[in-house]
Amino acid sequence: MLPTFAIVGRPNVGKSTLFNVLTKTRNAIVANEPSLTRDRQVGRGHIGTHDYWVIDTGGLEGEPDAMNELITQHAWLAIQEAQGVLFLVDGRSGLTAVDENIAGQLRRFNIPIHLVINKAENLLPELVSAEFQLLGLENIHTISAAHRWGIDSLMESVLAPF
Ligand code: GDP
Ligand code: MG
Repeated sequence: MLPTFAIVGRPNVGKSTLFNVLTKTRNAIVANEPSLTRDRQVGRGHIGTHDYWVIDTGGLEGEPDAMNELITQHAWLAIQEAQGVLFLVDGRSGLTAVDENIAGQLRRFNIPIHLVINKAENLLPELVSAEFQLLGLENIHTISAAHRWGIDSLMESVLAPF
């Protein structure tokens, strides 16, 4: 059975961009408008000979309205189907209260959680990682999904147990 990884995080951090890079498709809608990905997208990808499934989800919100609650349910369902989570945050905007909220909720899942700091193309990895270490997550990666930077090393680490 191929491992499945769920991409979660607040809106606009680059989840759909990463999904497209990992699956080499343009299936997920990438937009400046937050929360455009209303439903789950499932795609298949590979690094070398390692194949995997990846699920793109809508953003996890702090204060859900009716539609956002649905997105949250989709995201939690995706996590329950997954063997690992790619928890995406935005390195340019820095750590937010919503990120802390999501990190707290992810702790209840007994699967590896990878903290993926995106939009890091012009940032110093050590500096940006230091700020996000406050979330208390062990696996921290810095990437730029838009510039396809850091993706191979991220996925080698994510796939290592499988
Ligand atoms: P989602 O809401 O989390 O799915 O985010 P999207 O994938 O739709 O991306 C939101 C915005 O961030 C878009 O304008 C993307 O082009 C942009 N973006 C995604 N990845 C990167 C990145 O690595 N660097 C920069 N600078 N922008 C990015
Ligand atoms: Mg999206």
